[in-house]
Amino acid sequence: MISFVGAGPGDVELITVKGQRRLKEADVIIFAGSLVSDEHLKVAKDGCEFHNSAKMHLDQVLDVMRKANNEGKKLVRLHTGDPTIYGAIQEQMDALEREGIEYEIIPGVSSFTAAATAIKREFTLPDVSQTVILTRIEGKTPVPEEENLVSLAKHKASMAIFLSVQDIDRVMQKLIEGYGNPDTPVAVVYRASWSDQEIVTGTLSTIAEKVKAAGIRKQAQILVGDFINADYSLSKLYDRTFSTEYRKGEK
Ligand code: SAH
Repeated sequence: MISFVGAGPGDVELITVKGQRRLKEADVIIFAGSLVSDEHLKVAKDGCEFHNSAKMHLDQVLDVMRKANNEGKKLVRLHTGDPTIYGAIQEQMDALEREGIEYEIIPGVSSFTAAATAIKREFTLPDVSQTVILTRIEGKTPVPEEENLVSLAKHKASMAIFLSVQDIDRVMQKLIEGYGNPDTPVAVVYRASWSDQEIVTGTLSTIAEKVKAAGIRKQAQILVGDFINADYSLSKLYDRTFSTEYRKGEK
């Protein structure tokens, strides 16, 4: 059996119980070397075989999977955060599917929620935003034109921007154009939940310089939107006068 497992954002305690159980039982682990903490590998049993996917291309990863499958071994493919977000798992799963190799996926805590918890804010505040946009700026991987940052920013929703901090100037230019307000708050969270986590806060017009001064060029989330510091309405769900299926509101 092949298990794609989300390792979580960094802190080793943020893997799921199920994901960690798969790691403990694995005969073979392929881990995303530069992004997943080595600490996760410590729970592996004696004799477990390790492969660092940072040094492998797709066919090499698939070869390790095929071999483990033929030998009836348990293999974990450990991905950073949640595997379904920028995880490049589809091409692996489709190859396994074509060859009739069984697999499962175990979700993980994504870095975008780890980043929001690091700054102690909620993405979805009543009267501020009820939508979270997860996106990135184009790099080697193109982004469909309909999803360019200028048009996404026009929604004024809460945003979490992955894989983009190296291009912070260009990201901010596009967001200023889209949001239309250079004072919109931004928080850049470097290595959320790791022991060397760093948080830089500012606005669309000030953050780029601060991020460069802090030397942050990778492994960061760019969080944008009024959820970071706006006033908001209290929730309906916990309103004293609001009735729900479980509770009768006070008059
Ligand atoms: N599947 C992962 C994302 C992989 S893409 C997830 O769900 O989080 C890699 C990008 O994720 C990085 O460029 C960075 O933008 C973000 N990232 C991953 N781990 C991070 C962390 N601990 N803190 C901040 N951003 C992180």
